[in-house]
Amino acid sequence: MKQSADVVIIGGGVIGCSLLYNLAQLGTTNALLLEMDVLASGSTGRSQAICRMHYSNPVTASMAWESVKIFANFGDAVGGASGFVKTGYLVVVEGIERAGLEKNVAMQQELNISTSQITAADLRDLAPMVSVSETEVLAWEPESGYADPYLVTTSYASQARGLGAEVVQRNPALGIEVTGNRVRAVLTQDGRVETDTVVMAAGPWSKREMAKVGVDLPLIPVRHQVASLTRPVEHLPEHPTVGDIAQSFSFRPDGSSMTLMGFGDDEEVDLDTYNQGVDMTGVAEAMSKLARRIPAMSDCYFRGGWSGLFTTTPDWHPILDRVPGIEGLYCAVGFSGHGFKLAPMIGKTMAELIVHGQANSVDISPLRYSRFAEGDLMESSYRYRVLA
Ligand SMILES: Cc1cc2nc3c(=O)[nH]c(=O)nc-3n(C[C@H](O)[C@H](O)[C@H](O)COP(=O)(O)OP(=O)(O)OC[C@H]3O[C@@H](n4cnc5c(N)ncnc54)[C@H](O)[C@@H]3O)c2cc1C
Repeated sequence: MKQSADVVIIGGGVIGCSLLYNLAQLGTTNALLLEMDVLASGSTGRSQAICRMHYSNPVTASMAWESVKIFANFGDAVGGASGFVKTGYLVVVEGIERAGLEKNVAMQQELNISTSQITAADLRDLAPMVSVSETEVLAWEPESGYADPYLVTTSYASQARGLGAEVVQRNPALGIEVTGNRVRAVLTQDGRVETDTVVMAAGPWSKREMAKVGVDLPLIPVRHQVASLTRPVEHLPEHPTVGDIAQSFSFRPDGSSMTLMGFGDDEEVDLDTYNQGVDMTGVAEAMSKLARRIPAMSDCYFRGGWSGLFTTTPDWHPILDRVPGIEGLYCAVGFSGHGFKLAPMIGKTMAELIVHGQANSVDISPLRYSRFAEGDLMESSYRYRVLA
């Protein structure tokens, strides 16, 4: 392992690996990524990995749009595979949320994002298996879909390695050495790695790691559940990805015969002891919602499931910034349920911030560290912040 590096990244999820690759692309190849377990073993490996653009804010909508282009063209844009599958993405909201949906779609269209508001009659042509009520309001994104979070993470890591960066697994960062308000090194079981730049990308563990240098990140881990369902393929060979804001859950196809459903109360949990399985009452409730949305899914069956952690902030949006008070310390944390789809552009913009002093491809200042103290939080057009 390197004894010194220009940049050390703590955490080998999709964010850390995308950043490692993007730093190398900008010429910072003397970089080291430390992962305490194996790549994608945190929130990333448990992700539903839905890629869609329907957000309430231009910064996340445009990052998602630029990112989906990279996922869809990963072999050429990055190298390796992303497992991206274009399914189309349907947003369904209740009538009382109409204004929010119309505002979001108009904002996205101004950013040239491929999306439009559609009617129930349009939906019968696009996705006849999906059932909506007269009062529900709909948007459709033809370019959206899902990807494979493990493939994306490991592809980024392997491309970064090819450019000269180093990835070390099963080797946690034990601490960050700071003297005179400046980063000096990262401590590991194999010794001290000298560096003047450290990026915290340790997902839900970031709060604990930053507390060691006296930084109190406003992060709360909440549990989100995923169930894997076997689809009745004879009647239902395919369906789009759906953000069912009206019923507060989401689902997408998983290969040719399975469907993945994301649901739950998103309750705050303890990082070390939370239930990593699913609650069967929650599964049954979500299966009823699914059968309401796609009647043919009343013949599906439950194959298993898991839970993972959303790392939330007070406004459910990430913090992408330098850490005030400690020169050379950065954080890319607090992605809630959004981090996978944004990861290509998070890596790019954070690399620009570190190498050039500011992010040029997208203005990430709305996601600055100080917004909480300033009371300038990101807003959602809907009641369910996780969805948009
Ligand atoms: C159930 C579920 C469904 C989701 N669905 C979606 C979705 O559909 N679309 C979407 O965009 N997002 C989704 N998300 C969110 C998305 O998966 C996350 O935002 C994203 O994966 C966060 O990536 P990360 O790299 O920040 O964190 P993580 O993947 O958690 O990576 C952090 C890494 O840091 C490592 N680490 C921790 N401490 C240390 C240390 N001291 N030293 C070294 N390494 C350390 C951990 O082992 C871990 O591998 C979902 C999340 C969950 C849990």
